[in-house]
Amino acid sequence: MPICRLAETTINRIAAGEVIERPAAAVKELVENALDAGASRIEVLLSGGGVERIEIIDDGCGIPADELPLAIERHATSKLQDETLVQISTLGFRGEALPSIGAAARLTLISRPKEQDSAWRIDVAGGAVTPARPVSGVKGTRAIAEDLFYATPARRKFLRSTRAEAEAAERTVWRLALSAPSVAFRLVSDERVIFDLPAQSEAARVAALFGREAAGSMLALEAEREDVRLSGLIGPASLNRATSQLQSFVVNGRPVQDPLLRLALRLAYRDVIPTGRFPVAALRLNLPDEALDVNVHPAKTELRFADQNGVRSLVIGAINRALAQPARLGTAPIAFLPHLSVPPTPPNRAARGFAEAELALAAPPMARQVFAAPEPELTKYPLGAPLAQIFDTYVLAQASDGALVIVDQHAAHERLTEEKLRAQFVEGRIAIQPLLVPVVVDFPPMEAARLLAETETFAKLGLEIEPFGAGAVLVRGVPAPLKEPDAAGLLRDLAEELAESGAPLALEAKLDAALARLACHGSIRAGRRLHREEIDALLREMEATPRAATCSHGRPTFLKLTRTDLEKLFGRRG
Ligand code: ADP
Ligand code: MG
Repeated sequence: MPICRLAETTINRIAAGEVIERPAAAVKELVENALDAGASRIEVLLSGGGVERIEIIDDGCGIPADELPLAIERHATSKLQDETLVQISTLGFRGEALPSIGAAARLTLISRPKEQDSAWRIDVAGGAVTPARPVSGVKGTRAIAEDLFYATPARRKFLRSTRAEAEAAERTVWRLALSAPSVAFRLVSDERVIFDLPAQSEAARVAALFGREAAGSMLALEAEREDVRLSGLIGPASLNRATSQLQSFVVNGRPVQDPLLRLALRLAYRDVIPTGRFPVAALRLNLPDEALDVNVHPAKTELRFADQNGVRSLVIGAINRALAQPARLGTAPIAFLPHLSVPPTPPNRAARGFAEAELALAAPPMARQVFAAPEPELTKYPLGAPLAQIFDTYVLAQASDGALVIVDQHAAHERLTEEKLRAQFVEGRIAIQPLLVPVVVDFPPMEAARLLAETETFAKLGLEIEPFGAGAVLVRGVPAPLKEPDAAGLLRDLAEELAESGAPLALEAKLDAALARLACHGSIRAGRRLHREEIDALLREMEATPRAATCSHGRPTFLKLTRTDLEKLFGRRG
């Protein structure tokens, strides 16, 4: 076969695969266009996770009728002035988004610049263009993308569940709304208003999008080094979350998910939050265009900094300083939450309890308690009789064969709790323990509604929840096998676990993770002094539970040192 040039439609379909890999990517491109057009108000309407329909309405500069055909043509842009690609001040510049969306879906643009007396409309479906014609319409642009990927079935196959696609698309708008607080944003997904925010200050926008509880304790931060300026709000260590969803980075006005910045954030918090937990942060960096390459990736979510080390140490240094002097953010950007008119939330230990317990491990050694001589009848058990508890974290016991047993009380109890939960779960549902005083938990806007949609799943897990005004959920009952769980922290972690947009987990795998999470929350903490009877009960239960020797993370729950082991450790034996 001779070499031929690819047809324009084919080229666009190939490009579509790169630029528009899922509905969230189309949403991102369309909202970026609205921001580039100088809109002061942007409305995003999604149906069926954006696969069925995406509609973006802006009040920006509009597209003149005679330019509409160009807008949907490949590599046609009104934005790129600097041909060296160095000074890029707009979000878009590649002129690829609209033709790509038009190649993969049915795209309609209705636009009216303010000096034009009517709006004009143009349609592209699977690459085929219907010529522009006048229609009625207000100033600004409406872009509608329907039946995403109908023309590219190969891509369509890779879409996740509608819920997962909606989640990703909503999160994209969440990030964009954080990047531009001076633009009013409204997001509606399947007829549910997720947020509706006026033009506001950065702090107020963060409060609205991170949730009242998180925002209330976040610390303001500001730092500068050479031409790089960093500002933002970060959570104290105690506000750590189960996923990295509550992290936002904006670089020169562009929301990014840059690996370097994520790593810097992680490193900055490494010593203050437990492994596997994630800090909460909304950070904004501004640097000269020439210190930055935004053209690394078609989706423009990754960057290249000219001075990577400089940026990294600026971020880490500023966070360390902010964490060292907790000056509380004094604003009260919470007045728009409707449920504030009801009595205040009963105090709860929220995210704190878990983190503090884990941190206790790093605290100065606490007193140890030594028990009286081991009771002879207990020494006959495999894990033996309690001798002492040290650091309020490890239990020492003497086993039947004289060996020394060291138990990690949290790991061991977590294992037992998980086994109990699992057994009840397999039988049908986990028993619910009603709370005497129901707890109100606040969420970032997207999460509360999504959580409530999973009410039945939560009930199976022993958690009874119900709606409590926008952005809030009421917890009525907690899983009975848990010991004094922190209902708010638990629900928050589960919400993230179940909703993790990046993870292609089947419901079963999610439930599995959820059970482990529950067990962790509902177990004896490290750093708690135990009564002798509690220790005794713990050891006996461990003996009675198969698989009690490792915790759910695969670490051992106890160590056993025999005479031979000790002799080896002391070099008495080879
Ligand atoms: P790019 O954004 O990289 O220029 P796009 O394909 O996204 O490429 O858009 C092509 C052109 O269409 C833009 O350069 C801009 O002139 C115009 N355009 C697209 N969306 C809008 C909008 N919402 N308002 C005004 N102009 C728009
Ligand atoms: Mg664009």
